Amino acid sequence: MENWQQTACILCYINCGIEVRQGGEDGRRFERIRGDKAHPASQGYTCQKALRLDHYQNGRHRLTSPLRRRPDGTYEEIDWDTAVAEVAAGIQGVIDRHGGESILYYGAGGQGNHLGGSYLS
Ligand code: SF4
Repeated sequence: MENWQQTACILCYINCGIEVRQGGEDGRRFERIRGDKAHPASQGYTCQKALRLDHYQNGRHRLTSPLRRRPDGTYEEIDWDTAVAEVAAGIQGVIDRHGGESILYYGAGGQGNHLGGSYLS
């Protein structure tokens, strides 16, 4: 039996409705993706990018943990708690030295999506 799940494409701000069929050994692959005809706005439409979501989600070059730059320019993986604590300390250091008005947050995802806006919530 096919197991299609309704969701939305997040590659741009339009958020077209899509349906995905997951599979693979760990169940995390998007085996098939199609437009959701029941979505009130997109009504089954997708551009070609949505149909490649498995590539973006599971591509072998995708980062799976935060990276910290070493003094020699290479990177090392660190855990999220460490990354968040170090970034927060860096921001706090700027506030302490120059005041909060010296920080401007700008966030946006690729191709105009709004995922980046949640990173500093
Ligand atoms: S990237 Fe394409 S399919 Fe995805 S939300 Fe934008 S227009 Fe829709």
